[in-house]
Amino acid sequence: MQDVMKGKRGLVMGVANDHSIAWGIAKALASQGAELAFTYQGEGMAKRVRPLAQGLGSDFLMPCDVEDLASVDQVFATLKEKWGSIDFLVHAVAFSDKSELKGRYADTSRENFSRTMVISCFSFTEVAKRAAALMPNGGSLITLTYGGSTRVMPNYNVMGVAKAALEASVRYLAADYGPSAIRVNAISAGPVRTLAGAGIADARLMFNYQKRHAPLRRTVSIEEVGGAALYLLSDLSTGVTGEVHFVDSGYNIISMPHPDVLKT
Ligand code: NAD
Repeated sequence: MQDVMKGKRGLVMGVANDHSIAWGIAKALASQGAELAFTYQGEGMAKRVRPLAQGLGSDFLMPCDVEDLASVDQVFATLKEKWGSIDFLVHAVAFSDKSELKGRYADTSRENFSRTMVISCFSFTEVAKRAAALMPNGGSLITLTYGGSTRVMPNYNVMGVAKAALEASVRYLAADYGPSAIRVNAISAGPVRTLAGAGIADARLMFNYQKRHAPLRRTVSIEEVGGAALYLLSDLSTGVTGEVHFVDSGYNIISMPHPDVLKT
């Protein structure tokens, strides 16, 4: 497979460092000929993201904090000015106060619930609207979710609720933008050791549990998530929209650990 993304341009949001899922996706897209623009959250991140982007041949970087709508508008104004149109968008952005990614969901505060929802869920709807305006010939959007949206994962708490809303948003956005040939999908990744992942209490235990019990008996790499993203963002998947696609070594299908695993 070669140059599947040749002639396509798009925006990648959410690279913090070379462990980020968005980085795995960016590498896969660039390896197949895509032209990439990146956003980074604040100047502190710029020094890490800039050399990574440059390594993929991109000097097109813009600051963006999704809590600041003016910075989101600026990103899309700049994209319009420089490129005129885009073909795809990657949304790999999430945040919740670490102090509420432990203990009981029942104790979530109103303030952190709202903030988590705006950054981790509604921001996708906001960027999708702006991206769609730059997709006159159709396009493809993806976001990142986690299985804690439909099943209770200890400590994932309000983020699980935000991911449930994000997955519902994917379906509504897919219906809204489908007539414009714009596809909207989510990748539900298994646990990956990233900055955001480390914010969840006992992340290492959950990581090791899934490694032990998933059908493939391992966790997934950011390159494997990148491969699925390449499929969803390219013309390989033109008939697919509104889906939540699992890249989790099959963990989501398991009801109970295999007795062989329990005996060890
Ligand atoms: P990461 O820390 O590398 O990336 C999270 C990104 O969100 C960072 O780049 C950060 O700058 C950005 N971000 C946070 N608040 C922001 C804001 N206000 N404005 C703009 N950007 C903001 O971690 P990651 O694990 O690669 O996370 C990417 C996505 O993948 C998230 O949606 C996360 O929930 C999802 N995900 C992660 C895992 C995992 O185990 N790591 C599993 C499934 C899904």
